[in-house]
Amino acid sequence: MKHPFDKFNLPDYLIEAIKEIGFDKPTEIQEKVIPVVKKGRDIIGQSQTGSGKTHAFLLPLFNQIDPKKAEVQVVITAPSRELAEQLANAATQLASHSPEEINVQTIIGGTDKNRLIQKLQHSQPQVVIGTPGRLLDVIESNDLRIHTSQYMVVDEADMTLDMGFLEDVDKIATRLPEKGKMLVFSATVPQKLQPFLKKYMHSPIVIEVENKQIIADTVENWLISTKGKNKIELIHQLLTIGQPYMALVFANTKEYVDDIAHQLKKKGLKVAVIHGGITSRERRRVMRQIQNLEFQYVVATDLAARGIDIEGISHVINAEVPQDLDYFVHRVGRTGRNQLSGIAITLFGPDDEQDIALIEKRGISFQPKEIKNGEVVDSYDRNRRDHRKGKNVNKTDFDPEIHGLRKKLKKNVKPGYKRKIERKKEEKRIRAFRLKSKK
Ligand code: AMP
Repeated sequence: MKHPFDKFNLPDYLIEAIKEIGFDKPTEIQEKVIPVVKKGRDIIGQSQTGSGKTHAFLLPLFNQIDPKKAEVQVVITAPSRELAEQLANAATQLASHSPEEINVQTIIGGTDKNRLIQKLQHSQPQVVIGTPGRLLDVIESNDLRIHTSQYMVVDEADMTLDMGFLEDVDKIATRLPEKGKMLVFSATVPQKLQPFLKKYMHSPIVIEVENKQIIADTVENWLISTKGKNKIELIHQLLTIGQPYMALVFANTKEYVDDIAHQLKKKGLKVAVIHGGITSRERRRVMRQIQNLEFQYVVATDLAARGIDIEGISHVINAEVPQDLDYFVHRVGRTGRNQLSGIAITLFGPDDEQDIALIEKRGISFQPKEIKNGEVVDSYDRNRRDHRKGKNVNKTDFDPEIHGLRKKLKKNVKPGYKRKIERKKEEKRIRAFRLKSKK
């Protein structure tokens, strides 16, 4: 019987590998990218995490590999060890079906470098997947020779830029052959990425995949007001009411993540912790334990929000609204994967009103909930008063500080107050702009 991936004319072993994973049909990015890579064009792929982009580039690249040549043929960079390992797992699964051996080598920091060098001295792998720092290390020491590689993939390029790794990626790219093909995947294409793209890409085809469903329709998106209650108490309640299959709790700083984890542990929950302050060796160990379902609860910073694909996360709890609102979607996208149902819960206080309104402006709607008598029940819409009065209030303009000033203004109209409000608004706009440009 014909398989939906047959139309790409991939070798049989890759179709076998897809059958084993259980993909029924190609995703949009796969439909668009696979034929273009096969034509040998450079690509800028703009797509969100979760679109299936990993296989969009791995499948056609594996198609190009000559297993008889023990030389590097594909170089892939990712901005974090976890992402690199995830790509490597996908690549290894494909390689395992090949009738002739294809070597996939993960090259990431925090691992035994001497052992890696010994391995590389013995033979060069056909596919290397790694983080920019360690990759560059072994390239510069000439242990890894990439001048033979016809393909380079820069995955999550915007995150690579944000994390300050683009310089290393640039140095890696200079070692590729002149005619090598470059594939860059990025959720966004910021201006600062342009010089790199111009330097290495030859008339690239830009492939954009619209993220129609920002949050999977299998995910319920709850919003719970903290109403001055202790947040960690609330999180504990939420974690113990529904008996989640696996819950991922996000906070913005490693200190707060530690604090939440510590207090949940004190209450008897078995909690795993992921943040940048934990050694990479430990992080890899914890990730493995999580994949093996040894923990029901994981507390993490946004390090775990992008790309990390942990099967079966039933609940995501945002202890805080993320500082970078893009991460809201990345966090919530950790649940409801592969058509499973999921619940995302965001805790908010008065200071978060504006951010919540901005998230809603992106087309994401929340279901207001509260905890009553040990149960999560529907709550009222926090904007109900505005609706009742039929006021045409622009929610994104709501600002508690300015709101307070307006209230004062009503009671006690002093000359100059209106100007003060306008000045405050302007100051806020400037502050917000500065913050944005810092990122
Ligand atoms: P990615 O965006 O590559 O990280 O993929 C996100 C998730 O989608 C992973 O769990 C993949 O295994 C899954 N996936 C990728 N391609 C397909 C497909 N064609 N059909 C179903 N699931 C897929």
